[in-house]
Amino acid sequence: MGQASADLLESSGHTEGIKPGWLRQTMTSNIVGTTRPQTDESAARQSIACKECSKTRVVKKRLPQGWKRLDDTYFCPDCWRNRYVLRAVVFAVAGPLNLSWQDLRSALKTLSAETTRASNWMVKELALVDVPRDPSLARIPKMPRTYLYPEARKQFPTLPSQTVAALEQAVTRTYKSKGYQIVWTCKAALPTFRYPQPVPIHNQSWTATLENDRPVVTVRLGSVRSGLRLKGGPRYHRQLSAFHLIVSGEAIQGECSIYERGSDVFVKLVAWLPRRSSANKPSGLLRVRSHADALLVAANAKDERLWSYHADQIGRWVAEHRRMLQHWADDSKFEQRPVPSFAARRPQASLRYHRRMNTAADQAALLLSDTRSGASLRR
Ligand SMILES: [Zn+2]
Repeated sequence: MGQASADLLESSGHTEGIKPGWLRQTMTSNIVGTTRPQTDESAARQSIACKECSKTRVVKKRLPQGWKRLDDTYFCPDCWRNRYVLRAVVFAVAGPLNLSWQDLRSALKTLSAETTRASNWMVKELALVDVPRDPSLARIPKMPRTYLYPEARKQFPTLPSQTVAALEQAVTRTYKSKGYQIVWTCKAALPTFRYPQPVPIHNQSWTATLENDRPVVTVRLGSVRSGLRLKGGPRYHRQLSAFHLIVSGEAIQGECSIYERGSDVFVKLVAWLPRRSSANKPSGLLRVRSHADALLVAANAKDERLWSYHADQIGRWVAEHRRMLQHWADDSKFEQRPVPSFAARRPQASLRYHRRMNTAADQAALLLSDTRSGASLRR
């Protein structure tokens, strides 16, 4: 149950609701590119070597495609992907720490409106620069290089500079991915960014911390800086294990984005999480048992309770089903006919009951198998 709703949140909260599906990839693959500056003056026209496999490349101005830089070391695309996996986790905000909800919402509204406006402005600028299709052309010409940042800064002064830079990258990528259909085949219209767009926070402009074991993300929103307490608990165990890796520095944090959906505010964190190799496979023992008031209770080696999964509905279903069967058994003694009037309903009710229980068992097993990795990661 808990697992299902957390998944739901993640998909509806981000990928479908907010922006067109094709943007998803652009937004999430953005991270390390923006986090570690790709252009490095000191490394201009130098040779770099992959830390793992020693493959070398000559760097002109920016890192070759797919190469990543981590502090002073470099990784080729293959070695990077062997080490890290890109993940996004979504949390609901439980409350702002040094702001009122009202101030948080109003800051978000302003920034979200500006983000939407800036994204749409950028798309139009890109379309203006792009070469229109000409009957004399045999193939699509290369799109001229663009640099919208300086003008965008002037037009949208309330957006932080890093947000503008991140937006330009994301919007340009989006435009280019559709450029062929827009300019050449005319099968696609210019993308429109609908309000409210999530507010992107550059990877160096947010921090993840634990305060009294509760996850907190501190961000700068326009002129204000605030901690946001995030919702935790067993429902978020998957997100929490990623969060712990970000806090400990084992994961490399990427962009964060904040958005409002209905009455809730959500924070989406993107990070490269370390792949678990055989060397750091989860170890330790998670003891899980049933308890009078919970279907599953997990404890660590010291027998401290880590989490409980109550699933109270299952107890209710069992009691209800037993009661129904007992009533039918009682009533059949008083039925005059050889086949009681409720004969058809009895097997139907049993079938429904068994299906329900199977689903509940599957969900509990899924929760447990997911938690196993989460709990061990938290150590
Ligand atoms: Zn390598």
